[in-house]
Amino acid sequence: MESKRCLFCDQVVPIRPKGEYDWFLGCHCAPGSFYGLRRDDYDAFDKLSYNEKRAKFPIISAYIRELTDCEETVALSFDDLQKIEQSPRVPATIEEKGRRLLQFCTGIPGSRARRSSFIVCRPATI
Ligand SMILES: [Zn+2]
Repeated sequence: MESKRCLFCDQVVPIRPKGEYDWFLGCHCAPGSFYGLRRDDYDAFDKLSYNEKRAKFPIISAYIRELTDCEETVALSFDDLQKIEQSPRVPATIEEKGRRLLQFCTGIPGSRARRSSFIVCRPATI
């Protein structure tokens, strides 16, 4: 199977080309899942400046994670970049991130328990 570097988390993972999209399987953005990136737009993302990448790629990665965790299909193109930055699905503030983390730990109804939650929540061994 073909492999490619996920631009957003820097992990090299198997990909499955289908139509205009390459589907990245199981990288840090979509553990146990996958997301699609328009093949022609890979280079456009890759050509962003270092500062732009540093500011934007973690947001895109979080966005993919958020949606794939909800078992939604994510198929990205370069045009989606602005949309993602303004998406309410991306926790923008520290408070919001904390609230989400709390949701994972307590398993509030409506928030699906995540595979990794026990790792996040496990108290430190003394
Ligand atoms: Zn990734």
